[in-house]
Amino acid sequence: MSCHSQSFSGCSSRSRGSYPEVKCYHGEIALLRCVKHNGPTMGKKFFGCAYWPKTCGFFKWADYPDDIRELQMLVFEKDTKIAELEMEKDFLQDKVKELKGQNVYLQDQVEELGIENTETVLAIYSARADRKLIVSLALSWVLFTVVFFMY
Ligand SMILES: [Zn+2]
Repeated sequence: MSCHSQSFSGCSSRSRGSYPEVKCYHGEIALLRCVKHNGPTMGKKFFGCAYWPKTCGFFKWADYPDDIRELQMLVFEKDTKIAELEMEKDFLQDKVKELKGQNVYLQDQVEELGIENTETVLAIYSARADRKLIVSLALSWVLFTVVFFMY
């Protein structure tokens, strides 16, 4: 598409479109122009100094450099995201290690409590057995006395 096939406003500074404001080395808002001479870049839009031909030398393609910058920004954002995720991964791995350690500690405690529990149950059983023994001893003594006095 060449400049000549477009309306004049298509190449004028007034049709800035979606382009961001660009300033030249004068600090002036650069004008959006397009290449008018025949060649491979013909019709391509660029920003140029507003004081042309007394230009400060400012020149910037309107389309391509922005695309590259956008892609670079995307790559940068993705890299940042990846770095963040890797940090999160490291953090979570540490957390998992920590929790595994806690799990082992808790399992030890459960085992210990289980042993203690068994010991308590055994102690209760033996206490009951003692009482039974005492009761049966007392009963047999009473029986013995009764039998002894009956005869
Ligand atoms: Zn300038």
